Amino acid sequence: MRVVRTLPTLTRAIAALRMRRARIALVPTMGALHDGHLSLVRLAQKRAERVIVSIFVNPTQFAPNEDFRSYPRTFASDRKALAAHRVDLVWAPSAETMYPEGFGTKIVPEGAALAGLEDAFRPHFFAGVATVVAKLLIQCDPDVAIFGDKDYQQLKVITRLARDLNLKTRIIGAPIVREKDGLARSSRNVYLTPDERKAAPTLYRVLKECAAQIAAAQPLGAVLDEGRAAITRAGFTLDYIEARHSETLEPIGSLRDGPIRLLVAARIGRTRLIDNVGV
Ligand code: AMP
Repeated sequence: MRVVRTLPTLTRAIAALRMRRARIALVPTMGALHDGHLSLVRLAQKRAERVIVSIFVNPTQFAPNEDFRSYPRTFASDRKALAAHRVDLVWAPSAETMYPEGFGTKIVPEGAALAGLEDAFRPHFFAGVATVVAKLLIQCDPDVAIFGDKDYQQLKVITRLARDLNLKTRIIGAPIVREKDGLARSSRNVYLTPDERKAAPTLYRVLKECAAQIAAAQPLGAVLDEGRAAITRAGFTLDYIEARHSETLEPIGSLRDGPIRLLVAARIGRTRLIDNVGV
């Protein structure tokens, strides 16, 4: 497994991977890898002969008050896990390689990026994500790129971005990997204190309960009100819990207008967690 840190080396390494017309999959990550990321790698291996994993903690998607500095960085163990998974190439550029002096371009997505979910609480986030993902897709030129359903709005934004910019890469979503108690795996789970960790599975439990009630034709507004209360009782400060159309992310009034996705974001202590389920 090669670890590449500069663009000229990446270009040469990708040309070598492309020999004999091998298909290439890219799995973009910010490192601190867990089973969720590794499930994307395994899906990538089913969809392509060669797999590239990028590891880049992208400064432009963090606001100044967010956790860029403290974001977990575990490159040595990430590298080991990826080698054990027989990944072909790790693309781990520096911030200077991605944003050299004079860098002056930003992709500001609209559509799903203005759904009033993550964008309402992290207004800088999707421009940072869209710009870095567009760069990664152009740099690596993969046939497919795998993104997790965990970041559901992000997956929609990137799918649209690839279509709108006529990128050749096919964007593929992958199911959420969870801990045994239901908590969605996340690099940020290491921030949780033992007590917060105990409370954290509430998010998924509430999402599932709400989904079951909505599927049983209970009124959406009342179901979500109850969900809101349960999450707050567990010690969270809720950013949102919303029922949206699974594809457009537009607000939805009833089951008939579905398919529905329930999405939640909430803070506990210093940690912000997100999750979602289909109805
Ligand atoms: P991150 O390193 O957090 O930026 O995530 C990199 C990719 O892994 C994104 O496409 C995420 O949606 C995906 N991902 C993160 N956590 C999970 C999870 N628990 N299950 C599936 N995919 C995940």
